Amino acid sequence: MVERPNLSEDTSENLVIVGSGPAGYTAAIYAARANLKPVLITGFLSGGIPGGQLMTTTHVENFPGFPNGVRGPELMDLIKEQALRWGTQLIEADAEHIDLSQFPYLVVGDGFSIRAKALIIATGASAKKLGIPNEDRFWSKGISACAICDGATPYFLNEELAVVGGGDSACEEAIYLTKYGSHIHLFVRSGQLKASAAMIDRVRANPSITLHWNLEVVDANGNDWLESVVVRNRATNNQEVFNVRGLFYAIGHRPNTQLLVGQIKLDEKGYLFTKYGRPETDIEGVFAAGDVSDSEWRQGITAAASGCKAALAAERWLSKNNFSVPIKRDVVQPPESKCNNQDKDEVTTKDSYQSDAFWQKGSYALRRLYHESNKALLVIYTSSDCGPCYILKPQLRKLLDELKGEVQVVEIDIELDQKIAKQADVNGTPTVQLFKDKKLYRVWKGVKQRSEFKEAIKQLAAK
Ligand SMILES: Cc1cc2nc3c(=O)[nH]c(=O)nc-3n(C[C@H](O)[C@H](O)[C@H](O)COP(=O)(O)OP(=O)(O)OC[C@H]3O[C@@H](n4cnc5c(N)ncnc54)[C@H](O)[C@@H]3O)c2cc1C
Repeated sequence: MVERPNLSEDTSENLVIVGSGPAGYTAAIYAARANLKPVLITGFLSGGIPGGQLMTTTHVENFPGFPNGVRGPELMDLIKEQALRWGTQLIEADAEHIDLSQFPYLVVGDGFSIRAKALIIATGASAKKLGIPNEDRFWSKGISACAICDGATPYFLNEELAVVGGGDSACEEAIYLTKYGSHIHLFVRSGQLKASAAMIDRVRANPSITLHWNLEVVDANGNDWLESVVVRNRATNNQEVFNVRGLFYAIGHRPNTQLLVGQIKLDEKGYLFTKYGRPETDIEGVFAAGDVSDSEWRQGITAAASGCKAALAAERWLSKNNFSVPIKRDVVQPPESKCNNQDKDEVTTKDSYQSDAFWQKGSYALRRLYHESNKALLVIYTSSDCGPCYILKPQLRKLLDELKGEVQVVEIDIELDQKIAKQADVNGTPTVQLFKDKKLYRVWKGVKQRSEFKEAIKQLAAK
């Protein structure tokens, strides 16, 4: 777990990077190697999660250097490690306020307030969602916001698939998916497509695509993977079920630029405005990287490449203006990274079980602690492809350090311990349950702040 660096408003940093997707971390690698000692604000819940959009996907098959593909969270862990190894300072929180009217620029969030001579905004973009009831349950298990990224998943091969949307992206995704699916249903909310004429012609000419007008998706169903979607005809109000294994959203993205509205030039879609292919914004010393300024390409590798450009441009700008105060390294090559193997915890067995261990894994430890421990017990349900679990687990480990033995954690991998997950009625990861004396007190779903768990455990101790 990275400790928050000791920064203050009285001194100004060379470079602050906001966002921890491929763009932010790549910018940090370049800036750290240029001895700028960058500060990177990871974000927490606002505009995504630490590590960015790739934390929410399973396999990334198109990032160079991984011939067999790589899990999204693992890729982001590796890029983060590289940035840390060269001295990037992390603040694990959201930036809540950025003031570009004063120089050095001011960035404020929960528990920090820092000044930056140069800023890189890499806050990404969030795919718009429909908000249907089972959306979270089937997210990355049939529902996706990126056909190019996820289309080749074996689950979709020779299956009927659906795309929602009516613009160029929806048409493009539908055409793309005909490579994999047996048939593609394109659900359009209105009575017409808003795509370009050429794109509409391509869709109409493709016998593997059926256009459905005035339809809105109202729910999704299945077991471990999506099996069907329910749609409502907006003209007749009739509902219909389509047995599709994939549902692809192409209803647009929302760039995470809310913090900067009114302070910096945005394009007509709300993305940070830069000259084509360049990282400079219209404010001196403020640079853009990744999806926050790219409504077109939106890929991990394009985001990483733009992070590199932004860092190089920031370095040049700082040095041209004599603003940079580079650090001196005692050793040229930092020690090798011991890459975070947090997911490689061994399952606790009868032989390895310890009644006072802080963190154990699996059903054996759960059974023993549930019946025998008189401490608070947190049970975290995880799965190997769950990006948010990568965020939450270090938070809980930190909590264990802070509470010094008041609480114990058991991790249950729901793929390995399906029976327990079923008994506990867990239908998504991460889920955390708080027990004491065999009684269930709280259940949390998704990533939460460490303070929430801490408060609940303290309240329990006070009872
Ligand atoms: C489901 C899915 C699957 C995908 N699969 C692939 C794939 O296989 N291959 C591929 O190349 N691309 C894929 N993509 C696209 C890829 O993930 C994005 O193009 C890429 O992550 C963009 O990187 P980024 O750094 O610009 O932004 P993001 O990854 O969106 O990261 C933005 C970061 O900014 C942070 N942030 C936001 N607001 C704040 C704030 N106020 N304060 C601090 N931090 C903030 C967020 O927490 C996040 O860490 C996929 C996308 C999705 C959604």
